[in-house]
Amino acid sequence: MLKRWFVLVLLLASSFVFAQQPTKPEPPPKTVYIRAGRLFDATSDNIRNNVVILVVGDRIQSVGPAQTAQIPAGSTVIDLSHATVLPGLIDCHTHLSFRADRYNEIYAFKDTPFDYAFNAVVHARKTLDAGFTSVRDVGSPPFLAVDLRNYINEGFIPGPRVVASGPAISITGGHGDLNNYSPQTRVSMFPEERDFQIADGVDQVRHVVRAQVKYGVDVIKILATGGVLSKGDSPGAPQYTLEELKTAAEEAHMAGRKIAAHAHGAQGIKNAILAGIDSVEHASLIDDEGIRLAKEHGVYLVMDIYNDDYIRGKAVEFGLPKENVEKEKMVGELQRENFAKAVKAGVKMAFGTDAGVYPHGDNAKQFYYMVKYGMTPAQAIRAATSSAADLIGRAKDVGTIEPGKYADLIAVTADPLADVRALENVGFVMKGGVVYKDMITTKLAR
Ligand SMILES: [Zn+2]
Repeated sequence: MLKRWFVLVLLLASSFVFAQQPTKPEPPPKTVYIRAGRLFDATSDNIRNNVVILVVGDRIQSVGPAQTAQIPAGSTVIDLSHATVLPGLIDCHTHLSFRADRYNEIYAFKDTPFDYAFNAVVHARKTLDAGFTSVRDVGSPPFLAVDLRNYINEGFIPGPRVVASGPAISITGGHGDLNNYSPQTRVSMFPEERDFQIADGVDQVRHVVRAQVKYGVDVIKILATGGVLSKGDSPGAPQYTLEELKTAAEEAHMAGRKIAAHAHGAQGIKNAILAGIDSVEHASLIDDEGIRLAKEHGVYLVMDIYNDDYIRGKAVEFGLPKENVEKEKMVGELQRENFAKAVKAGVKMAFGTDAGVYPHGDNAKQFYYMVKYGMTPAQAIRAATSSAADLIGRAKDVGTIEPGKYADLIAVTADPLADVRALENVGFVMKGGVVYKDMITTKLAR
């Protein structure tokens, strides 16, 4: 009875909405011409000089040489002729709701879901201003990243496009759990942790993946080994069986979602690859066999090789416990060396930094390390553009500057192919045809 009444109200409400629809035609989409002195479009490792990009509405309509471009008088022109234009950057591993100055464990008990949401609003803007127009957010309270994605898409708050996961799925006592408190105290991540995060055995894993899909996640994140910033577990130790990981991957794929696995240890990395996981996060202690398997299965590695500096520096001042600093010392340098090995072997690599572990907005500091440990600047940039777009399943929309893609583009005044650290100073950010930051052109007709 109640249900029928509810349907009736819905019907009435929707007819009211239709009646209120204005009949006047939509205004034509805005047209903007962008003059790029140099263009790195990320379809190759090359630069093109003097290019005009035509943006209509939120998409790129054409990209062509400036000499032959027809720009009608009175058009809106953004003059980046003294800059290098690149696709908006993509970070495949962020935690927009996490703060890098809250390492004291008391916050695990004091912070509310609202605290996390406020954090995310501020960090979304910082990330966008740093030139990152898309992120894959891989771990937050349920289901903050989903709502954040929706609010950003609606235009209600500024931020990058968000590929949203739920909480990272963990075994009991694993990297995603709160460990080593008194058994006399009832400690849980949040009341519904068994629905959304903590899962043991194939049936529970299946349930949690399905429950996350039910609440709108784009991607599944699972913790396949111990971690650095958790208590009482070892980064090298596997935390799910191959069977459990296979179940998670199967369920995710059945729902049309990709799945990312956090894995530091060599065995956990191999388990993740053999289970059909799409990307291995961290991959710190990957061995030769793991590198071979990643290549053979076309699995992406997302290796966060900047944040070691921060974890062993500032994070200690912010109360990071000794246990965690010791674990970081074990994996940090090895991870960089293994990154170099994986690059050399030709494994697919996508840019991801674990932003939130270090301050949001500093994402581009990782490029320097990617080049130091074996990539060319062009390779590092493509890891954060075309390759990242492929990994997150958005290659149709983002990752390169080509007709049909969203007009997500950035500009820098220094040459990022000569010194990749140029990307630490992004002066211009456009997302979906809207300019969010412009410190390059002096006058901008908008
Ligand atoms: Zn992470």
